[in-house]
Amino acid sequence: MHKLVRLMAVVSLFSLVGCKQYKVHQVKDFRLYVDNGDPELKAAIVELAAQYNKDVGGKALTVVDNKDDANSKISFVANLKDDGGSKLGLGQWITTEQQKNKIAATGSQQDITVYHSMALEFDSANFEGKLAGMKNKKSDAYKHLYHLFCHEVGHGMELNHSADMSNVMYKSIPDHYTRTIDFASYFAYVRSYLGVTPAPLT
Ligand SMILES: [Zn+2]
Repeated sequence: MHKLVRLMAVVSLFSLVGCKQYKVHQVKDFRLYVDNGDPELKAAIVELAAQYNKDVGGKALTVVDNKDDANSKISFVANLKDDGGSKLGLGQWITTEQQKNKIAATGSQQDITVYHSMALEFDSANFEGKLAGMKNKKSDAYKHLYHLFCHEVGHGMELNHSADMSNVMYKSIPDHYTRTIDFASYFAYVRSYLGVTPAPLT
């Protein structure tokens, strides 16, 4: 008899869980803090982020002055390395979840908010060595830095490497641009990831 009661309790618990509704909100507001005292490096990131937003056709990245306003970080590292050897940059995406329970007449509802952020690192010698190129967007140095920036931000937006050499997410970045990089499909992905609808061309 005792056993039967316990079994019923378990069954009703399961049905309660079955009634639970989940509502998931995604927050993709990337606020980047440049963790470096060099004003030239910071100015370069501000400019690259501005170009990035322009290419997205919406506000994808915000560079903030105050660490407390940031959810994402950009660092410059001497002799950047990971398991695969030397690297020009590293990017990773981070999500944190916040859960809230609501009891409504229709049953219980769980609100889940997923906050997206990213952490980017750049090899300082490579980046600093190409800073002069920031003045000329047609220079190889500028193209390299912008490509590198887009690539690492791409990881920050959950993209993996591509085996296609024309893809922004191909795992090496040229010093000299003899091949064409397909930025159009990269930014199409970014727009769909962020839910940005580009303004129609007039
Ligand atoms: Zn990569």
